[in-house]
Amino acid sequence: EDEPAEEPAADEPEAEEAPVVEAPPVEEPAQMPSQPLEQNGTANVKLDTLILVNKQIALPAGYKPTDLVTANIDFVDTASGERRMLRKEAAQAIEKLMAGAKAAGIDLKGTSAFRSYDYQVQLFNAYVAKDGKEQAMKYSAPPGHSEHQTGLAIDVSSASVGYQLTQSLEQTKEGKWLADNAHTYGFIVRYQRAYEAETGYMFEPWHLRYIGVEHATNVHKTNVPFERYLEQSMN
Ligand SMILES: [Zn+2]
Repeated sequence: EDEPAEEPAADEPEAEEAPVVEAPPVEEPAQMPSQPLEQNGTANVKLDTLILVNKQIALPAGYKPTDLVTANIDFVDTASGERRMLRKEAAQAIEKLMAGAKAAGIDLKGTSAFRSYDYQVQLFNAYVAKDGKEQAMKYSAPPGHSEHQTGLAIDVSSASVGYQLTQSLEQTKEGKWLADNAHTYGFIVRYQRAYEAETGYMFEPWHLRYIGVEHATNVHKTNVPFERYLEQSMN
């Protein structure tokens, strides 16, 4: 649906309407994995949507999710084929997020979702050739270490920054909307400015990682890196 929901007429008397009181969310503890996060630097795929991949923990060689589907959202033209795909649950969540954004007057497009191991090889090599390995490591991941290979991560951007992946997205209303609302759709802004030393990644206001609504809400509330959230919650 492209049509915005119809607003009630401004002169409609509202006094007799009972105020809508939203029920408080049921405070159930989120289901935490009883599984190890990694073994010898290899990610535990049994963690499913809580899988942890970072600079130290790589996906198993040749990993490719089996439930990739094309996310039915607007993408920039340069994103094609597999790069429009996410794992089914994450694809459905990003579709809801984009619908919510649109309803709030927020214009966002996907720029890159799933990336295969081979694609990350090309991408990372190109970045290393351009900026050197040390610099490339701050904003890109070596093959096997990219969250995009999990099928649970997507980069998004807005017309206000020319759909570039730039930290200035943070200052735009689109970036602010993402920071405030992504968790309600199950996504976290994975690489925050305050986490740079801990994650080894620069602040990326565009990189969303799907972990489900409960966990994303907890991470948003506690404002800690995903690594620390998993470690703390499992103790
Ligand atoms: Zn990304």
